[in-house]
Amino acid sequence: MVQKTTFKIECSCGHIGNLSMRENDAPFSTQWERYELTGFNGGSSCGKDPGCMSLKEVFSELAPTCPNCNQPIIEGNIKKG
Ligand SMILES: [Zn+2]
Repeated sequence: MVQKTTFKIECSCGHIGNLSMRENDAPFSTQWERYELTGFNGGSSCGKDPGCMSLKEVFSELAPTCPNCNQPIIEGNIKKG
């Protein structure tokens, strides 16, 4: 089973995008998680052991930046609700 979680990210300039996380937590198969950015510049990351990376670590790994104003995007840019 693959679970997909999407976080909405908003830059201080108002640019909006997403960080999505796909997690395979099926028993008896390899566990993994994958992070991808939509709407922002930055890498993607893939790690085993779901839950071992905090959001803060994910952001430092992906190092997202805003394509509009070039500001770095951090954990605090996640839009809640
Ligand atoms: Zn921006």
